[in-house]
Amino acid sequence: MCLFCKLVNGEIPSNKVLEDDNFIAFHDINPIAPVHILIIPKVHVEKFQDVKPAMMAEMTIFIQEVAQKMGLDASGYRLVTNNGEDGGQEVPHLHFHLLGGGRLKWTHLHHDNPKESM
Ligand code: AMP
Repeated sequence: MCLFCKLVNGEIPSNKVLEDDNFIAFHDINPIAPVHILIIPKVHVEKFQDVKPAMMAEMTIFIQEVAQKMGLDASGYRLVTNNGEDGGQEVPHLHFHLLGGGRLKWTHLHHDNPKESM
C-alpha cells in the first residue's frame, strides 16, 4: 500500500489541518516554505494526469478552504503538483503542495540536459 494510503488509513501519523469525506490536508514532514501543506484525495489516484474532472472540481473547493484556514487566501500562495518522473513526483498518490506564509521565489527548475525531443 502506498505511503499516503497508509496515512489515510491511520497506519502512519499525520499533522492534519482539515479533513472531509473525500480529502485530507496535512503538514508536509519536510517543509520548504513557512506554510507547506499537502492535500490528497482519500482514494488512491496515482497522479494528476489520471484524475477525473469531477474529483478536481471538489478538490478545488477543499483546497480553497485549506488556504483560507491557513490564512493564505488574502496574502497569496503557490499550488503545485509534481506529476510523474520528470515532474519529480516521489509519492505515487496525487497530492497538491500548498505553499505560502512568505514571499516565494520563482526560479529555474529545469535539469541541465533537456530531452532531445524538446
Ligand atoms: P512529491 O515529491 O511531490 O511526491 O512530494 C512528496 C512530499 O511528501 C514531500 O514534500 C515530502 O516531504 C512529503 N512527505 C513524505 N512523507 C510524508 C509524511 N509521512 N508526512 C508528511 N509529508 C510527507
